[in-house]
Amino acid sequence: MTNKLIKQWIRPEIQALSAYHVPDPGNMIKLDAMENPYTWPQQMITEWQALLQDTALNRYPDPGSRSLQQQIRTAFAIPDGMSVMLGNGSDEIIQIIAMAVAAKDRVILAPEPGFVMYNMIARFVGMQYVGVPLHADDFSLDMAAMKAAITEHKPAIIFLAYPNNPTGNMFAREQVEEILTLAPGLVVLDEAYAAFADDSFMSNLGQYPNLLVMRTVSKMGLAGLRLGYLAGPADILQEFDKIRLPYNINVLTQVSAEFALRHKDVLDQQTDLIRQERSRLYAQLMSIKGLTVYPSEANFILIRVSDGRANALFEALKSGGVLIKNLANAGGLLQDCLRVTVGKPEENDKFIEIVNGF
Ligand SMILES: *Cc1c(COP(=O)(O)O)cnc(C)c1O
Repeated sequence: MTNKLIKQWIRPEIQALSAYHVPDPGNMIKLDAMENPYTWPQQMITEWQALLQDTALNRYPDPGSRSLQQQIRTAFAIPDGMSVMLGNGSDEIIQIIAMAVAAKDRVILAPEPGFVMYNMIARFVGMQYVGVPLHADDFSLDMAAMKAAITEHKPAIIFLAYPNNPTGNMFAREQVEEILTLAPGLVVLDEAYAAFADDSFMSNLGQYPNLLVMRTVSKMGLAGLRLGYLAGPADILQEFDKIRLPYNINVLTQVSAEFALRHKDVLDQQTDLIRQERSRLYAQLMSIKGLTVYPSEANFILIRVSDGRANALFEALKSGGVLIKNLANAGGLLQDCLRVTVGKPEENDKFIEIVNGF
């Protein structure tokens, strides 16, 4: 019973895709999606609500989000002379970059395991995707394999998540620099977890003509707003901006993100708490037998469960009311792996309690 319209008109590579699945958390403790678990102080919420009341919904937003863009430049130290483009989440920015270079014989390349949207968006826009396996023991870059793949495929874009998701580690800076030098096309440093890490390529913009730095406010506490930003050379970003839909950042996001960034100290305090909890969670997980725990510079920790018990542990957590991310069946280097987002202390305690009793 296949729909003829689908068979005839939907591109075969789209028919072959399966939709991105997000499980319904119900009222479980949500440690699956790298969200910041904290809300705002009441006073801040009240001020924000007053701002929303004065926001006109009958008018289109500022198509260039100029005021928010200016705020982002200062809040995140975008180097002078570099341009900024905003996206409806950094997912949209990945899509815009891909659309700008798309041709069916062109390649998007990224290390694997990595962020799944690079692969999915390559298919959406009809490009080829090449995943280059990381070293199996510590998820560092396999430079021999990366160099061979760059020579063979001449990728239009290389995505490097720095730190990497879902592994949590940071690639070696000198190796990233070598890739920037070797790559014939653009290299996007995806710094979605910059708030939790101690290094960044933001200040290196301009030193490499092909370097772009992409970030998001999602992981630092504003996931609901859907806002990402890309920083890089003005002439390149100008090309991308031509295919950005004019009102991609809605008024509620513009007003709310600007407000939130005026109170960045609150977000930064939350980030500090999460970093402290990350250390505590890491130490506690390390003391549990039967787990391999990978060091993380992001707001999540990847663990590997021995004796093929990853699925069972995932289910035990679910029954206990804690939702994490099950990567155990993802294949490749993630065999038997689970990923837990760092939550509030009491949420992490509940998680640890169940893992300990397992
Ligand atoms: C979460 C994540 C993104 C997407 O962020 P949004 O701005 O919420 O779309 C991009 N890259 C990586 C590596 C991520 O983990």
